[in-house]
Amino acid sequence: MITDERYTAYINSLEMGGPSYLNELEAYAGQTQVPIIRKEMQSFMRTLLMMNKPKQILEVGTAIGFSALWMSEYMPKDGHITTIEKYEKRIPIARENFKKYGKEDQITLLEGDAADILCELDGPFDLIFMDAAKGQYIHFLPEVLRLLNKGGVLLSDNVLQDGAIIESKYAVTRRDRTIHKRMREYLYTLKNHEQLETAILTLGDGVALSVKK
Ligand code: SAH
Ligand code: MG
Repeated sequence: MITDERYTAYINSLEMGGPSYLNELEAYAGQTQVPIIRKEMQSFMRTLLMMNKPKQILEVGTAIGFSALWMSEYMPKDGHITTIEKYEKRIPIARENFKKYGKEDQITLLEGDAADILCELDGPFDLIFMDAAKGQYIHFLPEVLRLLNKGGVLLSDNVLQDGAIIESKYAVTRRDRTIHKRMREYLYTLKNHEQLETAILTLGDGVALSVKK
């Protein structure tokens, strides 16, 4: 938790939730320990999508398809989502979910490591949702920038590393130290990049909202 839990609980208590099939999928993700976007992030994304109306969306990190399905509900109906996942156990579940909810045409799932797939993709995308392994965001950034439209939005999830980001590198466990270093580098780059304007929000697990100039 990076903010007082009571604020989050209160804000989420006001939330109406999404379509019932997504509420069910959210519950399933909770039971099976699949990390999906949190309630406050769902609400933020819905508002952002309705403001920005991105027609071409790229997602890095599909898991079982919750966030892609969520975005598909609130983006323009003639828009399209491309989403990347490398974990063999999650790919068939995501594919099945897209089919089950009639989204096969609107959502394309690309199987494999984003490190290989991103450099083969053609853009431009109006919104890119970065939600994969935190330690890799910095490596994905050059390709992500190439793929992002001018005026396009880069939304990066889980950037405050459950609060560990503000600790000294000596205070984080060895296992998390590499992620800590790379995430600090990522946030520094987002804030100082000449092509980007970025706001870092203490929402959910920390979100960076960037726009390409
Ligand atoms: N966006 C999803 C949650 C994604 S969880 C949602 O909110 O519903 C992060 C996912 O990224 C995991 O399933 C993990 O397997 C995947 N991932 C991590 N590193 C990756 C990489 N390099 N290439 C592709 N997928 C990756
Ligand atoms: Mg996430």
